[in-house]
Amino acid sequence: MAKKVLVSGGAGYIGSHVTVELISAGYDVVVADNMSNCDMTCFEGVKKITGKDDIPFYQIDCCDFASVNRLFTEHEIDAVIHFAAFKAVGESVAEPIKYYRNNLVSFLNILEVAKSHGGCNVLFSSSATVYGEADILPVTEQTPRLPATSPYGNTKQMCEDILRDVVKATTGSENVINGIALRYFNPIGAHPSALIGELPRGVPNNLVPFITQTAIGKRECLSIFGNDYPTEDGTCLRDYIDVVDLAKAHVAAVSRMIDGKMKNGYEVFNVGTGRPVSVYELVRAFERVNGIELNYKFVDRRPGDVVAIWAETTLANNELGWKAERTVEETLASAWAWERNLSLLQK
Ligand code: UDP
Repeated sequence: MAKKVLVSGGAGYIGSHVTVELISAGYDVVVADNMSNCDMTCFEGVKKITGKDDIPFYQIDCCDFASVNRLFTEHEIDAVIHFAAFKAVGESVAEPIKYYRNNLVSFLNILEVAKSHGGCNVLFSSSATVYGEADILPVTEQTPRLPATSPYGNTKQMCEDILRDVVKATTGSENVINGIALRYFNPIGAHPSALIGELPRGVPNNLVPFITQTAIGKRECLSIFGNDYPTEDGTCLRDYIDVVDLAKAHVAAVSRMIDGKMKNGYEVFNVGTGRPVSVYELVRAFERVNGIELNYKFVDRRPGDVVAIWAETTLANNELGWKAERTVEETLASAWAWERNLSLLQK
């Protein structure tokens, strides 16, 4: 019988891509989402791409213990991938209570319920933000985490620690929790079908949705935050990881847990390309690949941005048997195709 994976936050940007890849790898998937930061566009897209009309979908809030418990009662869950969390750095600074409550309580509920139902494999969606401004680049999983600079970043660190501690406490018990934290670098792009992709509400915080919205005319001009950084062209360096590649890393990690291939009960992997790309390079690549002249200007630095971060990916390559495959050009073309298709999908 197919193994079953619960994807919390499965109607969102990364969750929808992961759902597609899980289904094409032969897993059964249960999606839970409170729809606080998305609409049904991506979930409908997932159904079209996979040709599966009957993916169990629960509109629930993982902060509600009884709702999470119902999921585990109604389904024999082999693994959980937990995406359900708020993710806007700036908002988290303004509303820390909202962020701590949501991001911590939902994860605690998942863990407690998973444990009470006999244990489970739990994949936590973490972030390269845990490294902060690292001294030595690229960062490996051993690179020390630095104190978080936002409540959002802090929730990522805290949830990693919670998972590590729960794994430790349940090892050897009848209710074993195995855990993997995947630290994402900068996920961008969309599924090649252009049926699912990033769907920011309001003004996008992230670079690529801002680029595509500027290209399509929803935004007048892209602001590039800072061109006086100590990098070759003066703009920040990031490791932009294609969202489909990222989704495949989740499948590899889930399979590792379910197939009993873990070397430790709690493991951490960087998920990036290992290649630094500057903001300016990314903008120019978008223009080149899509034949578009983008309206952009250089403005002041954005507070809180690190100068440079990119991943050492050897561990994920070797242990997960996973490697980023799509080129940044393919990814930027997919982001643009998604933006163009979005106006049709949302009509
Ligand atoms: N950035 C930019 N203009 C924007 C949004 C982002 O110049 O409108 C820059 C930002 O300063 C950073 C990079 O793009 O150097 C990636 O930012 P993003 O918010 O996408 O991800 P982050 O690395 O902050 O998680």
